[in-house]
Amino acid sequence: MSTDRTPGIDRIVVVGNGIAGQTACDSLRTAGFDGELTVVGDESVPAYSRPALSKALLTDGGSHELAAPAHGATELLGVAAVGLDVDARRVRLDDGTDLPFDGLVVATGARPRPLGNGALVLRTLDDALLLRERLTARPSVAVVGAGPLGMEVASAAAQAGCEVTVVADTAPMLPQFGPYLAELFTGAATAAGVKIVSGTAIGLDAGTVTLDAGTRVTAELVVAAIGDIPNVEWLHDSGLLTGGRLIADSRGRVAPGIVAAGDVAHLPIRGIVRRIPLWNSAIEQARVAAVALLRGDDAPEFDTDPYFWTEQFGLHLKAIGRLPVDGDPTFLLGNDTADDPHGPALLHWRHPDGAGVAVAINHRIPIPRLRRAAATGQLPGTVTASG
Ligand SMILES: Cc1cc2nc3c(=O)[nH]c(=O)nc-3n(C[C@H](O)[C@H](O)[C@H](O)COP(=O)(O)OP(=O)(O)OC[C@H]3O[C@@H](n4cnc5c(N)ncnc54)[C@H](O)[C@@H]3O)c2cc1C
Repeated sequence: MSTDRTPGIDRIVVVGNGIAGQTACDSLRTAGFDGELTVVGDESVPAYSRPALSKALLTDGGSHELAAPAHGATELLGVAAVGLDVDARRVRLDDGTDLPFDGLVVATGARPRPLGNGALVLRTLDDALLLRERLTARPSVAVVGAGPLGMEVASAAAQAGCEVTVVADTAPMLPQFGPYLAELFTGAATAAGVKIVSGTAIGLDAGTVTLDAGTRVTAELVVAAIGDIPNVEWLHDSGLLTGGRLIADSRGRVAPGIVAAGDVAHLPIRGIVRRIPLWNSAIEQARVAAVALLRGDDAPEFDTDPYFWTEQFGLHLKAIGRLPVDGDPTFLLGNDTADDPHGPALLHWRHPDGAGVAVAINHRIPIPRLRRAAATGQLPGTVTASG
């Protein structure tokens, strides 16, 4: 490997051993960094695929493993960062030790917003194993939250033979997808026997969820999927938070020698400062941030059309571009999903600012082709249909 060490950066610490942390390690090595690299993760297991937890792992015990890393970082697992001294350039760990660094990558992700009182959540491998085990007894299940995660859990529970009720404060996945796709997915959920109850959960006691309108939903198992909270508490005394948020620039930089990536970070995307808590976004952000740590302004800016996928109720969706989308799509492939909900179909929308969105439903298409379809609004080359 070529020695390409940025002057003054000999030791890099990555805090957070998820996909953003692992990608940052890989990207630092690819960019030529051959100094001391340490990754700290509070989970005691090696990094794994988090999206698999609500899909393959929950439904059929499919794999959640990631390829073994080749970056050769020292991995401190089962250890949490509890503080950061920016001036002294040290990360404080919960085992009482300090880690000195010249460069730091903050990649501590997010955790579920809790509902409390016995509701399960799904973020970690342990959460998924517990939920899977509970589903084997086929309890009645109430899922609070009707975003993609809540609906994937509902799908897995229905597949396990449970009676499932989803508590939805908007139509399922309407804020994430827009009306056309939300209706398609809600139709598939109700066809699978899932009951949707409208309302906002305001309390949970002994398996009874109370909604704002006074309605009650009772189930043997309650799962909450009501959003996530970035893991920034360890940075509270660092001076890096603005109104409790870790805000990076378009290259992931938060301070000299300190970058952030993934679910933990807010960053400006086409003028709007926000988080994009998606798997591929965490990967793209980590690539940019790693290069920015070494090369500053010579790094590319983060500016990608997000890639997103979900699998539920027999529908496999892959999307490139800004969701939600308004109105009806143009069909690049397949028939109106109202007639044939399970596709295969390739749909296209164009936002008023000209940005394209392409969505494949039960249609196998490589991401670069999907990206081309989003940009051009044309069916890209020859594609192979699959269920
Ligand atoms: C069940 C589930 C399904 C999902 N499905 C999809 C999907 O289909 N498509 C999609 O695009 N996205 C999906 N996502 C979102 C995607 O998984 C996340 O966007 C992605 O994992 C973010 O990666 P990250 O590395 O930023 O954070 P994380 O994966 O959360 O990793 C951060 C790591 O840092 C650790 N950590 C936190 N605090 C500390 C600390 N103080 N010290 C040390 N370590 C710490 C955490 O425990 C964690 O291991 C899903 C998420 C979940 C939970």
